[in-house]
Amino acid sequence: MPIPDSRNKKDSPFAWLSDRRKRSKEEVILIIMCALSIPSILPFGLYRLWQGAWLSAAVDLALVLAMLSVIVHVWHTGRYKLASLGVTLFYSAGMLATIYLRGLALVYWVYPTMIAAFFMLRPKVALGINSVSLLVLVALLLPQMEMLNLLTVVVTISLVNLFAYIFSHRTGLQNRELHIEAERDFLTGVGNRRAFDSKLAGYAAERRPQPEACLLLLDLDHFKQVNDQHGHPAGDEVLRRLCDVLRHHTRVTDEIFRYGGEEFAIIANGAGLRAAGKLAETLRSAVAAAPLLDGHPITASIGVAPMPRGGVASEWLEQADRMLYAAKEGGRNAVRVARVVEERG
Ligand code: GH3
Ligand code: MG
Ligand code: MG
Repeated sequence: MPIPDSRNKKDSPFAWLSDRRKRSKEEVILIIMCALSIPSILPFGLYRLWQGAWLSAAVDLALVLAMLSVIVHVWHTGRYKLASLGVTLFYSAGMLATIYLRGLALVYWVYPTMIAAFFMLRPKVALGINSVSLLVLVALLLPQMEMLNLLTVVVTISLVNLFAYIFSHRTGLQNRELHIEAERDFLTGVGNRRAFDSKLAGYAAERRPQPEACLLLLDLDHFKQVNDQHGHPAGDEVLRRLCDVLRHHTRVTDEIFRYGGEEFAIIANGAGLRAAGKLAETLRSAVAAAPLLDGHPITASIGVAPMPRGGVASEWLEQADRMLYAAKEGGRNAVRVARVVEERG
């Protein structure tokens, strides 16, 4: 049984951000970036207000107000994609306006602003926006700066963008690889229990249940004997070969997961119960016929259940498990398919 991990939540200084509902990483980053920008800009805005530099003060205070409204919007709606783009565009325009109004000394703000874009947007989009900003910046600075100084600014900004792009691109790739590895069973290469659970959770989250999706639970018969008589490595090899057989006889739209030690779950998508029953029979006979272990016949029992109307994952699993149990009780090397209860009215 999975143990709920409450420790990470409590340890994180940002736990309060994810209290009500699970917030995505992108949402949290956007909220934190906006929240951090307020104490960074507000003092300058107030100072300029006090100095009577109305236009600069207005730009700073507008940025602060915009950040506040983005925080409230994302906090309540959870929609961060457009907000991230809006914040980056607004920041970039604000930064350029400030440099235009206050002059060269504020050019240092370009660096954190451009790096922030890589935290909020996909690397290519961030690079695109920053490149346009750099062109506008050069146009602004050209009349005020010596050529060599301007060149230094352009080269350093370009390098910062190049490094940030490479870093965020690589981080994205590594994240995707980690995600794939975290959901793959290391022995057989099929989806693991975590992938299966998140697949079921995904079905449950969808408003419309998938009436055509069926679950096949496959369990090898007397597998303990394989380990006892031939050793654990031979048992491992049987599991690997079994998955090759399963892959060979399923469609690309069917998904295979290792649900437990020698127990596998197959989700047959869009096939209907009759086709899923046929698939189960094909798999059963293919396993029985395959040379999985020299001199030792290997068979499997399979339980099949259609997705219940309410899309409740636990019911689905229970029904497939009951069918698997019935197949075992019926003498093993067998398939049992759940009967669909027709709803009236
Ligand atoms: P049944 O027909 O009732 O399913 O009998 P069984 O022997 O298959 O079932 P049981 O649950 O008694 O034993 C399952 C065995 O699967 C015990 C365990 O050693 C073996 N097993 C589980 N995971 C692995 C694995 O990763 N590698 C190997 N080699 N064996 C495994
Ligand atoms: Mg078994
Ligand atoms: Mg078992």
